[in-house]
Amino acid sequence: MERKRVLITGAAGFLGSHLCDRFIKEDYHVIAMDNLITGDLQNIEHLFALENFEFAHHDVSKYVYVPGKLDYILHFASPASPIDYLKIPIQTLKVGSLGTHNLLGLAKNKNARMIIASTSEVYGDPNINPQPEEYWGNVNPVGPRGVYDEAKRFQEAITMAYHTFHGLETRIVRIFNTYGPRMRLNDGRVLPAFIGQALRGEDLTVFGDGSQTRSFCYVDDLVEGIYRLLLSDYAQPVNIGNPDEITIGQFAEEIIKLTGTTQKVIYKELPVDDPKQRQPDITKARALLGWEPKVDRAEGLKITYEYFKSLPAEALVNKEHKDFTTYNR
Ligand code: UDP
Repeated sequence: MERKRVLITGAAGFLGSHLCDRFIKEDYHVIAMDNLITGDLQNIEHLFALENFEFAHHDVSKYVYVPGKLDYILHFASPASPIDYLKIPIQTLKVGSLGTHNLLGLAKNKNARMIIASTSEVYGDPNINPQPEEYWGNVNPVGPRGVYDEAKRFQEAITMAYHTFHGLETRIVRIFNTYGPRMRLNDGRVLPAFIGQALRGEDLTVFGDGSQTRSFCYVDDLVEGIYRLLLSDYAQPVNIGNPDEITIGQFAEEIIKLTGTTQKVIYKELPVDDPKQRQPDITKARALLGWEPKVDRAEGLKITYEYFKSLPAEALVNKEHKDFTTYNR
């Protein structure tokens, strides 16, 4: 039987690369697309030799052309850490808006089903905890996170419009904080920040008083949830994340224990609009997909720490990943 063909955007990124692995494992033909601004080919280089894998170096904010049939499109291209979208705010807006529009057009032409990577950031700094899908959020459109949050909210709106107006098969996953191997050490996210600091023998920087909460999901659990949602028949948004909530202060202590570092916690100013609480209500995912996370934090953190430890020493240098300045157009 002919293989099903899937286009994955943001394929060289953290989540995109794990999705490539999963669809290869399921014997799909994978077309991996990335403009490599924040992605890294090292994340997918082990797939290049496979006959059912191909890579396209392309920015989806520009017209997207893919020859042949397509069964599924997974739109996972986007900067996704506050530090990144502060550096490339305009690209962040474009990939969520223009990029999504281009891919929806492609999906319509190819009669493909499309899933978009939305985010817990659509809830902003939430007034209710945990956050169910019915909550509409508390978002500041002009704050530093606005470029990401509003791009993702627009992305949901245009995707739903293609679904209702054009009858396109669409899926929306709202992703909560996720971690695992292949996160970028210097993307500013809390887990690589803490582990990088521990490995370099620096103090761990907790922003604010550390009482803000997050709920961390191991990447394999997330990928399983996305896979099930894509194959389901449910077009409304679904939260995928781990409801195990922890304060950032406690999280720093866990990393100190895990790494055995003798460094201490130091406190820095809380970034503007940093959400105080974040925890997914996964009632829907449980009921519709029979999904819930399987990997607890102790296990997931251990695997992730082993990954960071295995990186070459130069990866630990806290340097700029790329020259971002030319991309703000
Ligand atoms: N954070 C921190 N120290 C760091 C980096 C992040 O205390 O070195 C905090 C940040 O202020 C936020 C939480 O950790 O409250 C998670 O930040 P991250 O950037 O990973 O993702 P977010 O959930 O805010 O999008």
